Amino acid sequence: MKYINLGKTGIKVSEVGFGGIPIIRLQTDEAIKVLRHAHERGITFYDTANMYRNSEAKIGQAFSMLRDKVIIATKTMRRDAKGFARHLEKSLGDLKTSYIDIYQFHQVANKEEWEKLCRPDGALAAAQKAKEEGKIRFLGLISHNLSVAIDIIKTGFFDTIQFPFNFIEEDFKNEFYKYALNNGVGMIAMKPFAGGVIDNAGLAFKYLRQFPEVIPIPGFDSIQVIDEVVSLYEHTNEITKEDNQSMERYRRELGKKFCRRCEYCQPCPEGVMITPAMGYPIVAKRMSPAVSVEFLKIPMESTLKCTQCGTCIERCPYNLPIFEILKKNYILFESHLAHSV
Ligand code: SF4
Ligand code: SF4
Repeated sequence: MKYINLGKTGIKVSEVGFGGIPIIRLQTDEAIKVLRHAHERGITFYDTANMYRNSEAKIGQAFSMLRDKVIIATKTMRRDAKGFARHLEKSLGDLKTSYIDIYQFHQVANKEEWEKLCRPDGALAAAQKAKEEGKIRFLGLISHNLSVAIDIIKTGFFDTIQFPFNFIEEDFKNEFYKYALNNGVGMIAMKPFAGGVIDNAGLAFKYLRQFPEVIPIPGFDSIQVIDEVVSLYEHTNEITKEDNQSMERYRRELGKKFCRRCEYCQPCPEGVMITPAMGYPIVAKRMSPAVSVEFLKIPMESTLKCTQCGTCIERCPYNLPIFEILKKNYILFESHLAHSV
């Protein structure tokens, strides 16, 4: 495992980090085991969030005795100073620490969000105060909207950026990578598997390892998966012609408008199970139509309750035309159903 400078923060982190969502579903003892195993295998960077239920608390329990050996990043959705201060105190308590290495503003999707953060009673002023008090070492920004992220980073308030980056979602590489590199912005790559649609870990990390300054944070929920990913980093990185062809096949198959399963669109007021229904064509392709009609019957039938209210579309950071996609997926589901009886 190599250790990489995170921009100009002066912090060094392992070349692959640990995304804190999947440990939510583990019992606390198991989560602690997994987290400590990751640390034993050389992973020193842990990313979590106030909104990931008990993820912060599990990280706190795993590492309270090793606090100076790990770098912890967490995040808040709050845009107001009071809410920010409450979230920060909760994170500090759950993580059992007196400081957060990188505190990030989660999902700043548009200019309006940024303006809220910058108000005199906004979270940015509170974050700067917390920095002066030593509760936060560095500030980070997270956005799925690249043009908004670029404008905000250029204000100079942030030390790191976290953005979706993988061999299907290459906008970051094309539009921001060089700027971040030249200006010492630490780069954290979320969604190394594009929200689960890349099912070839070897290929996913071969691609990302071409950008050694970018730290991917795959989610881990078992010792076995940690070992698999860490072992990928033990070999020299060589991308073959076949690898490039394989990446192209994924890109062709998925196009740009695909669901990353982030679940920001939920809940639907009518009870439509949006995320599994959005992924129907991929599941059908992987599992065969006959299996997928059974497997996703309930989510697909729930799409019939859609009133096209548009609430989910407003929440989707990728501006996906959700109800049109659900409709198209239902037609495919119906055709598979007709052939499976
Ligand atoms: S548009 Fe349909 S799926 Fe989206 S929130 Fe409204 S009812 Fe639910
Ligand atoms: S539809 Fe959009 S918000 Fe919902 S899970 Fe997919 S990418 Fe996320």
